[in-house]
Amino acid sequence: MKMPSKVDVLIIGAGPAGSTAAALLHQEGFQTLVVEKQTFPRFVIGESLLPHSMDLLQEAGLLDAVKKQNFMRKFGAVFLRGREQCDFDFADQFTAGWDHTYQVPRADFDKTLADEAAARGAPILYEHGVAAVEFDSDRARITIEHSGQTSEVCARFVLDCSGYGRVLPRLLGLERPSRFPAREALFAHISGDERPAGRQEGKIWVCLHSGGAWIWVIPFSNGNTSVGVVAEPEFFQRYPGAPEEQLRTVLMSEPNAAARLARMQYVFAPKRITGFACSVTQFYGPHFALVGNATEFLDPVFSSGVTLALASANRAARVLTRQLRGEPADWEAEYAQYMQQGIEAFRAYVAAWYEGHLPRIFFAAQRNPAVMKQICSVLAGYVWDQANPYVTQAARALPLLAQVAGR
Ligand code: FAD
Repeated sequence: MKMPSKVDVLIIGAGPAGSTAAALLHQEGFQTLVVEKQTFPRFVIGESLLPHSMDLLQEAGLLDAVKKQNFMRKFGAVFLRGREQCDFDFADQFTAGWDHTYQVPRADFDKTLADEAAARGAPILYEHGVAAVEFDSDRARITIEHSGQTSEVCARFVLDCSGYGRVLPRLLGLERPSRFPAREALFAHISGDERPAGRQEGKIWVCLHSGGAWIWVIPFSNGNTSVGVVAEPEFFQRYPGAPEEQLRTVLMSEPNAAARLARMQYVFAPKRITGFACSVTQFYGPHFALVGNATEFLDPVFSSGVTLALASANRAARVLTRQLRGEPADWEAEYAQYMQQGIEAFRAYVAAWYEGHLPRIFFAAQRNPAVMKQICSVLAGYVWDQANPYVTQAARALPLLAQVAGR
């Protein structure tokens, strides 16, 4: 593909945010160019989707392509602590929405979205990295690197969907530390997972480890399973040895994971990410917006990352469509504040998880079914439902509910 010298929108990164934004903007008739520094398929972590992502994939015209991949259907989430369980099923939730979503190896999922966006006519340049961006009064000039050469493209607008690359936050000095402490994740794909049957098979397991960590178990339809441990770095220091041994020992020291994963074999050696929580001082500026993980990433515990990436791509593409057509576009109200609403709802849940409020609620001897349905809708990603008090009042309501719940 020949690189154009001028486009309407240059999109940095072909992850879920970039492909979704490209598909939506192309649908509206704009000339887009996605610049992706890697080749696809490529590994990235973040494999458990939320039901609300189905609405967003559908709006971008990408859901049918995803459905054809026969990914593992995910009907809910099971939280486990020793012998205690709290089983959420997305069929039993407050907000009207999808009762399932998928567990996706991201190499396959991201390639599916990118290929579908490209097949619809939104071009993607692989192995091209954005190295610099300069903004004039009416446009952006983007320097792109490829095989040691650089070239320049002009765009009316730049969407930074570079995820962990955080291209514009770094270049423009927009980085802000997260309010959460630096946590670490150690994870791998394994075979030999002995799964529950039927509707339970595809649910994510989140196991609370008595030493102050939690474990994810995410089963894929190819027979492999993603397993990971998240904790503060001190936790891992108690488990010396190579990452293979460290991860196995932690998994085998939690009874639910141990029973299920006793025959596990690594598909690849464990990987580690430390200090993944990040934030920014602003979500947009003249001729640019930050989308997906290039904005704020909270924590993996409620699998919110891809859904927030898709929601922000959807929202940014809609505001940008109006701006490029010369219609009124209020980035503050329609984009930044809207996204903050969803992020704040998840932030309250992440905080309540680590402060122990949510474990007390989840493992209470008696749970209020109406409240659990409202919480289930948050776990399904419906964090903009203003009728749900466990969306709008979460930061206040969760600690109070935990007090009533007891232990
Ligand atoms: P990405 O998926 O990171 O895509 C960005 C793309 O930009 C990449 O392909 C990259 O190569 C490209 N790029 C970067 N720099 C440049 C450059 N200079 N030029 C060109 N291209 C560039 N989320 C969930 O929804 N469910 C989960 O279960 C989950 N688990 C997680 C577990 C852990 C331990 C962590 C850390 C995160 C998890 N997440 C999860 C979050 C998830 O990984 C991200 O939210 C998601 O990948 C964000 O998508 P994105 O499109 O914004 O960015």
